[in-house]
Amino acid sequence: MIGCDCSTCRSDDPRDTRLRPSLFVRGDDGTSVLIDAGPDLRAQALTHRITRVDAIVFTHGHADHILGLDDVRRFNILMRQPMKLYGDAVTLDEIRRTFGYVFDPGTPRGGGLPQVELTLVQGPFAVGGLAFVPVPIMHGQRQILGLRLGPFAYLTDCSAIPESSWPLLDGVDVVVLDALRHRPHPTHFSLDEAIAAARRIAARQTYFTHMCHDLAHAATTALLPPGIALAYDGLRLDVPATPMAA
Ligand SMILES: [Zn+2]
Ligand SMILES: [Zn+2]
Ligand SMILES: [Zn+2]
Repeated sequence: MIGCDCSTCRSDDPRDTRLRPSLFVRGDDGTSVLIDAGPDLRAQALTHRITRVDAIVFTHGHADHILGLDDVRRFNILMRQPMKLYGDAVTLDEIRRTFGYVFDPGTPRGGGLPQVELTLVQGPFAVGGLAFVPVPIMHGQRQILGLRLGPFAYLTDCSAIPESSWPLLDGVDVVVLDALRHRPHPTHFSLDEAIAAARRIAARQTYFTHMCHDLAHAATTALLPPGIALAYDGLRLDVPATPMAA
């Protein structure tokens, strides 16, 4: 956190240095998709040497999940095509508003504008060999998109899972779940709420994401039950298409 000298912010543990949450998914056929494009997209793409992005799927339109969008210009050049952007109606509106210059025909060309194609998510969809199932979750008062890919689910920015979404999580093997801090928060799971949700999902492995500096990596890890861990920047997961037998 800017201007903070708490023990997490001063920590030498690299897992306590956290950029904004997002996910890069690569399928067996090479199809590569970003889930969210936060302000750190450029730094993350450089660090992890990402050279291919076929599409970006947005969970919602908050600043920490969309403000890297201008950097798709580089992927437009690498991929020689517009970037496909997927999101629900509210999120696509937020993208159009926040990046008004991208969608304004009056913006002078030549300086390099992101080339994008918006696609409204209304149900399951596929990008190449990656099949996505939207899992509606609550982020405070607002419904946003969790995402399921086969045996894997990504549920960031979540404060509740509606009853109707639970069947969509049946049989999940690995799940990434929001856990902001110890104290309750109106739009994010607290650590205890996240542990309770993880127990009900009952995946083989759960990773928590979107932690704030209240949750130091090592100290928090010591509190977690088996099968639950904190994610960290650069964490790589191999999720087999067929879940492993218990
Ligand atoms: Zn701090
Ligand atoms: Zn959010
Ligand atoms: Zn967020």
